[in-house]
Amino acid sequence: MKIPFLDLTAPHQELKTELSNAFERVLNSGWYIHGEEVRLFEKEFATYCNAQHCIGVGNGLDALHLILRAYGFGNGDEIIVPSNTFIATWLAVSQSGATPVPVEPDERTYNINPSLIEAAITPRTKAIIAVHLYGQPADMDPIIALAKKYKLKVIEDAAQAHGAYYKGKRTGSLGDAAGFSFYPGKNLGALGDGGAVTTNDAELAEKIRALSNYGSQLKYHHDVKGLNSRLDELQAALLREKLTRLDEWNARRKLIAHQYLTAFSDTGLVLPYVPEWADPVWHLFVIRSPQRDQLQAQLSTAGINTVIHYPVPPHRQAAYSELNYNQGTFPVSEKIHNEVLSLPMGPHLNKLQLATIIEELIAAAHV
Ligand SMILES: *Cc1c(COP(=O)(O)O)cnc(C)c1O
Repeated sequence: MKIPFLDLTAPHQELKTELSNAFERVLNSGWYIHGEEVRLFEKEFATYCNAQHCIGVGNGLDALHLILRAYGFGNGDEIIVPSNTFIATWLAVSQSGATPVPVEPDERTYNINPSLIEAAITPRTKAIIAVHLYGQPADMDPIIALAKKYKLKVIEDAAQAHGAYYKGKRTGSLGDAAGFSFYPGKNLGALGDGGAVTTNDAELAEKIRALSNYGSQLKYHHDVKGLNSRLDELQAALLREKLTRLDEWNARRKLIAHQYLTAFSDTGLVLPYVPEWADPVWHLFVIRSPQRDQLQAQLSTAGINTVIHYPVPPHRQAAYSELNYNQGTFPVSEKIHNEVLSLPMGPHLNKLQLATIIEELIAAAHV
């Protein structure tokens, strides 16, 4: 039996009629950019996140970049980012002209460690980007308290956390603004690229709308040098259908996560840790072991596909060689990157697949 890391056909088979109807709606509308579907998706997703505004954009990287641009952050500014994240968080900062200033994670949650942030703040610091990594919310209250003290903006990178709760509040409504990705493999995924910004700041929302549309509020009149980064009608129509299933599919992920947690409790593997205030959406189920590569190889022999999120931390990527962060600069992140392994996880992982993964991983861990 071959078990894929994530089955992207199954959700679309389940929703085939709805998605086909959505496609027909757009096909017949004759309107493919900035129309009714995007307007309705923005309204529905804002409601889902309990945020006042949502702006559909081209992808998750652009969502974060547009937030920074709209705030006017750029050259000479510093933005605090987790050292342990997908590189897009850093790239959004670099594209704005600002410098990413990394802060190490809490080794248990993998999210930015709030107690290390203050030491990284300088007079040039403008914002903190908190990433809700693997679908688990970052510890926002201490981050927001620091931001108040130093007059910084708090930006959520919610690309992996559609629908997660922090102390009963939805991600996307926790900071000043949030960036979401609808890359196909995310919990809410399009059938192509897509992204969104959510915020309660009406002025910021207006700026992002203009910036993402050539810097224009009135057609052919351009106030700023914007970009073209839009969610299109077709992706919006498809996302509207998938949004109706998001809670149900997240609930199925949670059930699988709890079965994994129970099954692996005696294996000696480092398992995901969920603080009592977090209600994660299990974008990924990530275990840790110093024997990670062997485990991955053994699972692969058994036909089980796993992925490493991520093999190389941003500060050790060639793209960031100019920052001169040597090996050992961010040891917690480096250790995490050397040990993590993501098991198959998704709403369409079936009982037999789950039982097989559990059996094979327990066998591999005991060697
Ligand atoms: C996927 C992802 C992004 C980027 O989203 P894209 O839509 O692929 O541009 C940013 N941050 C994190 C944490 C992500 O997982």
